Amino acid sequence: MRKKIVAGNWKMNTLLKDGMELAKAVEKLEKDKQSDALLIIAPPYTHLSRVNDLIDNVKLAAQNCASEESGAYTGEIAPDMLVSAGVEYVIIGHSERRSYYHEDNELLNKKTKLAISKGLKPIFCCGEVLEEREQGRLFDVIREQLTVGLAGLNMEDIKQVVIAYEPVWAIGTGVVATPDQAQEMHKFIRDLLIELFDKEVADNMTILYGGSCKPSNASELFANPDVDGGLIGGASLKAEDFLGIANAY
Ligand code: PEP
Repeated sequence: MRKKIVAGNWKMNTLLKDGMELAKAVEKLEKDKQSDALLIIAPPYTHLSRVNDLIDNVKLAAQNCASEESGAYTGEIAPDMLVSAGVEYVIIGHSERRSYYHEDNELLNKKTKLAISKGLKPIFCCGEVLEEREQGRLFDVIREQLTVGLAGLNMEDIKQVVIAYEPVWAIGTGVVATPDQAQEMHKFIRDLLIELFDKEVADNMTILYGGSCKPSNASELFANPDVDGGLIGGASLKAEDFLGIANAY
């Protein structure tokens, strides 16, 4: 059985006090959750260690990490530092990192390998922009992002990874992929994992959908056989909506 996950990416939102309140509210609502989905929250770096003291059943993620272990990299946060703050998961390759900070597949591969070597579980994001979809290049783009992004991972490493398919045209736009579009790409990703690793890896990989997911559209997305949960942006900033999505299973 694959692990079902609903992960909240808070992005650059909430001041510390509000973030702590939100984390407390998510942890409280988690107790009454009506599904077996694991809940993960990814607050900003500045909140991580304080939030870690407030959660128990809910797991902690960072939104990014450095590609280097330590040293003269001003402004960067090393995987070891995240682990020392109680972080278990790390989002790698979010489309906002790829487009605004020019993080390419090679750099993301380096981050992924380093994160795993330090004991973190990457939530590795992939997704095509609208133009790539319209030009029919969507499968090539995802193949490239995953083939390069996950290159060099051994059979133990890959078991630590969660994949998030996030079509860029659906992120923060209110335009959600149709259940068929999501299933088609998730199936493609699972088949690709057979090619890159093996069937056992593919069968056990949790593949999340991300992009304008809300309580009102989550059930039809999660009803797809290859959709194992969601990576949630906007709707993760309200505890009730976030739990509403988890309860959509
Ligand atoms: C995201 O940024 O990962 C995301 C899915 O955002 P939203 O849910 O707001 O579209």
